[in-house]
Amino acid sequence: MYSKLSDLLSVCVRCGSCLTSCPVYNVERDELISPRGKIAIIKGAIEGKIPDTEVERVISFCSLCGGCEYVCPNGIRTIDIVIEARKKWGVSKLKKLMVEGFTRGVFPAHLATALMAIIFPDKLPFKPAIRPFLSTTEEFRKGRGRGKVMLFVGCLTNRFFPSIAKAISDIVVEAGFDLYIPKSQICCGFPHLSIGDHDEFERIRKHNLKIINEISPDYVISPCPTGLNTLKRFYGLKNVMDLSVFVLENAKELDLKPQNIKTTWHDPCHLKKELHIWKEPRRVLSGLSQYVEMERADLCCGFGGSFSLSHPEISFALKREKKKYIKDSGAELLITECPGCIMFMGSFSPLKTLHLGEFLIRSLGNR
Ligand code: SF4
Ligand code: SF4
Repeated sequence: MYSKLSDLLSVCVRCGSCLTSCPVYNVERDELISPRGKIAIIKGAIEGKIPDTEVERVISFCSLCGGCEYVCPNGIRTIDIVIEARKKWGVSKLKKLMVEGFTRGVFPAHLATALMAIIFPDKLPFKPAIRPFLSTTEEFRKGRGRGKVMLFVGCLTNRFFPSIAKAISDIVVEAGFDLYIPKSQICCGFPHLSIGDHDEFERIRKHNLKIINEISPDYVISPCPTGLNTLKRFYGLKNVMDLSVFVLENAKELDLKPQNIKTTWHDPCHLKKELHIWKEPRRVLSGLSQYVEMERADLCCGFGGSFSLSHPEISFALKREKKKYIKDSGAELLITECPGCIMFMGSFSPLKTLHLGEFLIRSLGNR
């Protein structure tokens, strides 16, 4: 699945092409925490030239957004390097507790809400005390036999945005596919991987893969690009499908009506920089609304999961910049595809923020 750390480090030629694609470097302007800086520090630490405290500090400055991988001419997999380094240099017990609490839903609603209020001091962009989507949904919905789709819900959508999962379910069934939503599915495990907890990630990966293999779907679709990318990159699945691609491929089966509204699009980091999907959502929105392109649409919103908690100053700087671009876009509605981005941008965006699935459901026969 991932190579040895020493192999991963060997091919960086320090060309610097990745520098300005790194949102963290762009805020801090510190070479040591740039993508190539991190690689050099990790290499130095392996050779015994850099103290553990310095490598631990440097590797914390990464939101695993994939911006550097997207532009690196040598195909350096910085995400693999950072998560391998985080494994080697220890899993923070506090972070492990936080990740477990959120992804397993073990925190009571009021505690989860209190923690969320630290991340979202402006306003909470969701109603906290809701029942998880997987506790209420049917496990199977019959379509017109055009194929089998499995919905991989993801922990944020399950806990905080059941309406997004419901919208995507309706679109898949409307397109004629039989839909499977196994209740035993759990978080994709990326939050665990991101803090270096590879053992827990492996347990999760095996659990979810068993479920997916039993269903053997034509496609796995998810409201969450990070989840989708994890299934593709770290589970090795070939049949993952993004919602915008699904809609374009099944446009004839879906009676989608245009909406008289000006929209703009925010590129979730993992959707564009890892899955390389950015043209497709724009095609969908251009066909169904008056689409306007926002400046720096692919600028990270500043969330990055636990990154916004560990480096709030960088998160705040990114959020302030993003807010300006959203405001200047002249749109009436902000659309994206990531529940994390929706949660975060929903707390500061001057525009109403919807998941593409929620936008599409409004176009489905103008419901
Ligand atoms: S773009 Fe790739 S090869 Fe160049 S410095 Fe960055 S990680 Fe190294
Ligand atoms: S993954 Fe993102 S935050 Fe991390 S080094 Fe690369 S560009 Fe920077």
